[in-house]
Amino acid sequence: MDEQTARREIVRIGSLMYERSYVVSSDGNISARLDDGRIVATPTMTCKGRMTEESLAVTDMSGKALGNQRPSSELAMHLLIYRERPDVKAVCHAHPPHGTAFAVAGLAIDQPILSEVILTLGCVPLASYGTPSTEELTEAMRPLVKHHNALLMANHGAVAYGSDLWQAWDRLETLEHTAKIAILSRILGGSKNLPADAIEKLINVREAAGYLGESARCQACGYLHETQLACPSGDRPMMSYPTESTNGGKISLTREELVELLSQAVDSRKS
Ligand SMILES: [Zn+2]
Repeated sequence: MDEQTARREIVRIGSLMYERSYVVSSDGNISARLDDGRIVATPTMTCKGRMTEESLAVTDMSGKALGNQRPSSELAMHLLIYRERPDVKAVCHAHPPHGTAFAVAGLAIDQPILSEVILTLGCVPLASYGTPSTEELTEAMRPLVKHHNALLMANHGAVAYGSDLWQAWDRLETLEHTAKIAILSRILGGSKNLPADAIEKLINVREAAGYLGESARCQACGYLHETQLACPSGDRPMMSYPTESTNGGKISLTREELVELLSQAVDSRKS
């Protein structure tokens, strides 16, 4: 990618991010890795909806500014992704409300509910909490970057990356859209997961079509553990966050029990 294209597309994606409420104030950041290895990144303390091409910062791979503009303080997260993934040329980080609600609730986006998401994104794991702009955050993300194309960061937000800026943005949008559908389906009584054999077929289609490679079989979260598909490198990282089935000791009640509990609660407030 050349510098002029990167500057133009970062400004365009910044306004999409702001218009869609993926960020407010000076939240979020976007970067691209140029063909010569330099990084073009959004500047520090700037609203993503009001950037100009001239306002962007340029750095080397250590994050050192090469011009007058200072890059975002969260650039370290982008640099980690570029170092771990030579195929990645662009990173988008934001706080989209539905995806971030999962991150705040301590949940990954890892249920097999949408065929197209399995085809194009895979599951989105949750990296444990780390203070933004410190090594705590990058160390929490490190084991997950290799086999995923988007991550949630606990009590913070989401990041997605790809071979160009539009692929990184598309993945962030898919993450947010999936999180929104997952939340809405819960209101309607819960989602119906795809069965393991349907998931296997989707994985075979996505590899044949080149949407995601075999490396994505090694994803840490979600539904691949239940299929017959093996991780070719054998280095599937373990997730350390609480899964939905163990989170907070989930209990189930019949409708009668629930009504009884609610009426007891109402009665106790009256007295
Ligand atoms: Zn952030």
